[in-house]
Amino acid sequence: PGADIAVGGPVSSPTTGTAASPLERRANATILMLARNSDVDSAIRSVRELEDKFNSKFQYPWTFLNEEPFSDEFKTRVSNVISGPVEFGLIPREHWYQPEWVDEAKATAGRDKMVQDNIIYGGSVSYRNMCRFNSGFFFRHPIVERYRWYWRVEPDVHFHCDTSYDPFLYMEDNNKVYGFTITMYEYHATIPSLWDTVKKFTAENPQYVVEGNAMNYMSDDGGKSYNLCHFWSNFEIADMDFWRSEAYMKYFEYLDQTGGFYYERWGDAPVHSIGAALFAKKEQIHFFDDIGYEHNPYTHCPKGAGLWKHGHCSCNPERSFDYDGYSCMRQWDRIWQ
Ligand code: GDP
Ligand code: MN
Repeated sequence: PGADIAVGGPVSSPTTGTAASPLERRANATILMLARNSDVDSAIRSVRELEDKFNSKFQYPWTFLNEEPFSDEFKTRVSNVISGPVEFGLIPREHWYQPEWVDEAKATAGRDKMVQDNIIYGGSVSYRNMCRFNSGFFFRHPIVERYRWYWRVEPDVHFHCDTSYDPFLYMEDNNKVYGFTITMYEYHATIPSLWDTVKKFTAENPQYVVEGNAMNYMSDDGGKSYNLCHFWSNFEIADMDFWRSEAYMKYFEYLDQTGGFYYERWGDAPVHSIGAALFAKKEQIHFFDDIGYEHNPYTHCPKGAGLWKHGHCSCNPERSFDYDGYSCMRQWDRIWQ
């Protein structure tokens, strides 16, 4: 008798999950997804998995962003699989589209060459808009601006283990700014002039380069050349105050004014990774070994029996990308030796 009446505790129900206790400490964080209306089915699959593996216990708010207004269908169907708060935001035009000052003839020539060379997304302007937005604008969106932390999620990714602690609070309490699960090489053809641009920036602004940084993860010769290693940015748990810092903002503006996002095809992954590896201490970058994560075609699966068992992981640790020939885990590991 009385079992359905909650007394003196958080109320729970099958539809809302367990409400977070008002006394529990929480981070100022959002789970963030950039998506198109046509991504609705795959977006829902990702949301569903992260809710099941993590967020139904924590109920962090979701934020969805799009350069076009989200359809009623997208909003209704996505909201239906989220137990906590959710917001849908429109990206301001000036944060998304190719700026006026970019030389369109030069940009077209750059795209044509990449199509000939069979570079993935080589001919796509929208992909370039997306990479530039993710590099320098998402954390300034009016909805996202209110938060310090974000967990980036994409449509059609998979989460293979239970996360029973709060990774945002872990980051905050351990003075971390950037978290990743997969690291690999970038295609050189997409960023031929990026490293030279970075070197010019750091030569002109040496004060931003932090002592004890992760340079030796990205460079095999003390910074002369880039070894193409980067953190795969479709998964990120990171501190937006770091992106909003003077160092990163100046760096982004410097890169942006070269037009390299359009003349070449600079990805947000190398741009973020280089920023994190130069403007943070290496200890501030965190490898989330315990988060089983998959984005086609690669999976990070915790290999240590403790993590794998504790997280009830469904992935095969033998197939983890970490020590694949294309992985940069070796470069990451060597900076700790
Ligand atoms: P890939 O992972 O590099 O193959 O690129 P994706 O196609 O997965 O795109 C990366 C992220 O940006 C995903 O969250 C996509 O949903 C999103 N995205 C890509 N292009 C666009 C676009 O033109 N508009 C919007 N709104 N989102 C996009
Ligand atoms: Mn993707």
